[in-house]
Amino acid sequence: MDPQTPYPHLLQPLDLGFTRLRNRVLMGSMHTGLEDRAADFPRLAAYVAERAEGEVGLIVTGGFAPNLVGWLKPFGGKLSWPWEARPHRLVTEAAHAHGARICAQLLHAGRYAYHPLSVAPSKLKAPINPFTPRALSARGVERQIDAYAHAARMAREAGYDGVEVMGSEGYLINQFTAARTNHRSDAWGGDAQRRMRFAVEIVRRVREACGQDFIVIYRLSLVDLVEQGNAWPEIAAQARAVQAAGATLINSGIGWHEARIPTIVSSVPRAAFVDVTAKLKAEVEVPVIATNRINMPQVAEQILASGKADMVSLARPLLADPQWVRKARLGRAERINTCIACNQACLDHVFQNKRASCLVNPRACAETELLYARTRTSRRIAVVGAGPAGLACATVAAERGHAVTLFEGSDEIGGQFNYAKRIPGKEEFHETLRYFRTRLEDTGVTLRLSTPADPMALRGFDEVVLATGITPRAVDLPGADHAKVVGYIDVLSGRVVPGKRVALIGAGGIGFDVAEFLVQEGASPSLDRHRWMAEWGVDPHFDTCGSLVPAQPEPPAREVWLLQRSPGRPGTRLGKTSGWVHRAALKAKGVHMLGSVEYLGVDEEGLHIRVEGHTQTLPVDTIVICAGQEPRRDLLKPLQDAGITPHLIGGADVAAELDAKRAIDQASRLAAAL
Ligand code: FAD
Ligand code: NAP
Ligand code: SF4
Repeated sequence: MDPQTPYPHLLQPLDLGFTRLRNRVLMGSMHTGLEDRAADFPRLAAYVAERAEGEVGLIVTGGFAPNLVGWLKPFGGKLSWPWEARPHRLVTEAAHAHGARICAQLLHAGRYAYHPLSVAPSKLKAPINPFTPRALSARGVERQIDAYAHAARMAREAGYDGVEVMGSEGYLINQFTAARTNHRSDAWGGDAQRRMRFAVEIVRRVREACGQDFIVIYRLSLVDLVEQGNAWPEIAAQARAVQAAGATLINSGIGWHEARIPTIVSSVPRAAFVDVTAKLKAEVEVPVIATNRINMPQVAEQILASGKADMVSLARPLLADPQWVRKARLGRAERINTCIACNQACLDHVFQNKRASCLVNPRACAETELLYARTRTSRRIAVVGAGPAGLACATVAAERGHAVTLFEGSDEIGGQFNYAKRIPGKEEFHETLRYFRTRLEDTGVTLRLSTPADPMALRGFDEVVLATGITPRAVDLPGADHAKVVGYIDVLSGRVVPGKRVALIGAGGIGFDVAEFLVQEGASPSLDRHRWMAEWGVDPHFDTCGSLVPAQPEPPAREVWLLQRSPGRPGTRLGKTSGWVHRAALKAKGVHMLGSVEYLGVDEEGLHIRVEGHTQTLPVDTIVICAGQEPRRDLLKPLQDAGITPHLIGGADVAAELDAKRAIDQASRLAAAL
């Protein structure tokens, strides 16, 4: 162990007997959308190469099905024929060339398969999938086990150092282990011993097929977070059995995809589930891996130093920053581009069948096309506005060798992220601002704070980029000038403290965020895992079936009405993987969410509205306008008049459906092209 580094446990090699991992960081499996077609493998290899070069110890690929019925979706990645295995050589060689070890994840979707050929232990449709699976016959069960062993052999031939057998998150193996989905009465169902037999046989046969010098990771569902999930004695018995069957490492699986308790979004506290991995560690001798919301080296180091796990799994944090481990080793953790757990460019993309990327790092999965190459002709560039768009544009352009001056009218960088970071559950947004502060220093951008730019100041630059963001949209409503009516910035900046009863006009991303801000008094439960678990109904001791207990939400600080003019439930346009969490959180706080609202006016009594023909008065003290935004372009015309044609990015370009993902992506692409 190197006592010189701030992270001695994290950077300590792990000897597995037949092979050695250079440190304790496992890159957790993530489906990126590059796994499904051999034509994408050069890109996949470039993506893997950057993470291996950034010093990750062990990489686990996205999931590959062991056979056709196990496909996650039609024509998804599969590993059952030599011609399917061959292109993987590119990927395994990319990892090995930079000293990393790499395992292929074997994932049989079972009833989560999005196609009509799906199979499962019992004929039970998943609540998140329209397809009903066929119940496997006993012979069919044997065939699935053979397929796993065969796929593992294919992986070995493709140069993988091992496989991860995906036994959690509600996929096929998990469907066998839990009474919720296994209603069989043959040798593969019934009591816990028989339900886990499928998992144990797979591990045993994979080990038999691939020999002793092959890593077999078993991803074990430590908390199912669904009713009729397993209780701790059953989980511990499964851990011991897969260890005896030949598992080299046991990784932590947290929550089924159909669970209604969030497990990875930004409001989940950092390392929220680490204590269940510590419980596992007490049951087995093989190294165990902690996972979920471990996004900074100090969090990882603390887990390892306290003996709660032997390795940590990071997935999205390595999309956000492929150099994460190297920066930790060099004692430069403050330079890490931290994953903010927003899911906007990674998981939400995958659910839309789009290639994954990262909101804070648009190069993720675009390593071969979005290049920040050094320029041969350094130019003087002015960027106006230090919100996410301006920060990304300025730093990429400066990294490429341009002389960049960044003008910011206020006295701090970050633009609207300075409001976002105040929302309970969005504390991670502070990290993006910290990262950009160090990036500005490292790339040599000249930062001019408290300097609103004007055409005079922008003369003499070769290029001018307007990243001036947005102005909140005003609403035209009788009584809109009443003292009760305020803007969301008034509230989030602390200029106005709303009363006890508040109506929000507009239920987009910002309306939802402001509602969360208003119902929470004091420190956010996202910073305290015990309070957070009580809010959501997670057993803090991880003993009960599925680790579920009755939820005990803290009382709301205010009574809030969240309103929109469109019909339907507010929140349906929020992100696929995070929108339901926001809706559930506000519902638990008693927030009234109304669609089809017509705003009639504001007066001393409150807000008068009509909903489906019925008029009513909401007796509120404060009305907060969260009705979207307009581009802020007051500089455009004066610049054009002065003969300067600026580039427009972020909110200054298009405010409709703007988010930081689009702002940072557009800005980085412009800077790469300047
Ligand atoms: P801005 O962030 O608006 O930055 C513009 C900057 O330009 C400001 O700093 C301003 O002071 C400066 N400026 C303006 N005029 C001048 C001038 N003449 N001279 C110098 N400086 C000037 N997005 C997401 O993707 N995910 C989220 O979860 C999310 N949550 C949010 C929560 C809240 C509460 C809010 C308010 C926003 C949230 N957003 C979120 C939206 C996201 O913050 C914006 O999309 C993003 O900030 C837009 O970036 P931008 O750089 O275009 O503009
Ligand atoms: P938005 O998502 O466009 O929502 C604006 C809301 O205001 C809608 O509910 C709209 O619904 C209503 N509205 C629009 N014009 C109105 C008018 N004239 N009068 C009354 N109501 C009106 O915008 P936003 O909430 O300001 O968010 C801005 C961007 O930030 C979003 O695009 C979002 O992506 C991003 N953001 C994302 C997150 C996230 O968690 N991912 C969080 C915050 C913000 P009706 O027209 O039906 O009334
Ligand atoms: Fe993390 Fe958001 Fe990037 Fe996904 S898109 S890796 S959640 S920062």
